[in-house]
Amino acid sequence: MSPISQIYQSESPVFSFEFFPPKTASGQANLAEKLPEFLALNPGYISITYGAGGGTRDLTKSLLLSLGDQVNRVAHLTCVNHTRQDIYHILDDYKQHGISAIMALRGDFPKNEGPTLTQEIPHAVDLVTLIRERYPHMAIGVAGFPEGHPECPNRLLEMDYLKAKVDAGATYICTQLFFDNRDFFDFRDRCHLAGITCPIIPAVMNISSKKGLHRMAELAAGARYPSALLAQIQGAHSDTDIEAIGLDWTCNQVAELLKEGVPGIHFYTLNNVSHVQHIFKHLSLG
Ligand SMILES: Cc1cc2nc3c(=O)[nH]c(=O)nc-3n(C[C@H](O)[C@H](O)[C@H](O)COP(=O)(O)OP(=O)(O)OC[C@H]3O[C@@H](n4cnc5c(N)ncnc54)[C@H](O)[C@@H]3O)c2cc1C
Repeated sequence: MSPISQIYQSESPVFSFEFFPPKTASGQANLAEKLPEFLALNPGYISITYGAGGGTRDLTKSLLLSLGDQVNRVAHLTCVNHTRQDIYHILDDYKQHGISAIMALRGDFPKNEGPTLTQEIPHAVDLVTLIRERYPHMAIGVAGFPEGHPECPNRLLEMDYLKAKVDAGATYICTQLFFDNRDFFDFRDRCHLAGITCPIIPAVMNISSKKGLHRMAELAAGARYPSALLAQIQGAHSDTDIEAIGLDWTCNQVAELLKEGVPGIHFYTLNNVSHVQHIFKHLSLG
């Protein structure tokens, strides 16, 4: 297992999985049961999301610890509503438990509170700086938005902000999900033109139901469903049809991204192993 700091230096693409920490006992048991199947796909790392709203923060740590040293772990961390002392405390704790990679994010303001909250660490760049100062050897991922982040209508300025995160010490960029690879390729080209040289990792997610489609439109800031995909979904008779359409779409996306030489692919798994297994099998990955 390559250390996480060197993971994107390998010749072959790195496949990584993202889990969210389930809130219920049955969700936790289900993920624990499926974990061996995820690990059998030999991921470069597994990353665990962090609830900026506060609800699942402890669950993130529990899940990270339960993975032990079976696999490289990346801990998502958001700075919204955290003080510097909170962040030091969390990082010291993670370090003690052998976690050496952080996905450094701002997070979103809890609904109804908005950006009027006093923020000791206002943006992800400030979190990256803080982590880098205290932990020079920590691997740090940051978020990039191929279709733009909705809060920043000025795409030139947004690229400056992204570059600032890399200059502050980010090791790699992982993207928001997207469904049209052209958005990713153009984003990658714009990053290069801006002088960003770190690995840029595309992230994909599978659509599996009509409800999921709407939920993702809500959650995945900035991501758009291309008309060709929507047209197929409109013709579907059931969620089973939508799942098959979604899998086919993701397989095509992943195949093209790999052909274009990306350093890795990050899968927003939604804790569903069968989708990732399908894609790996269909494309003979791993
Ligand atoms: C790969 C990935 C993983 C994620 N995981 C999680 C998670 O685990 N938990 C969670 O709660 N959320 C998560 N998110 C969502 C993320 O927290 C939100 O999308 C958030 O709105 C933006 O986070 P950021 O780190 O990009 O913030 P920032 O980089 O701080 O950017 C936020 C906004 O501020 C602008 N901006 C940046 N710097 C400055 C500056 N110096 N001055 C003025 N404006 C600036 C940016 O252009 C952008 O519009 C994830 C997103 C991605 C893409």
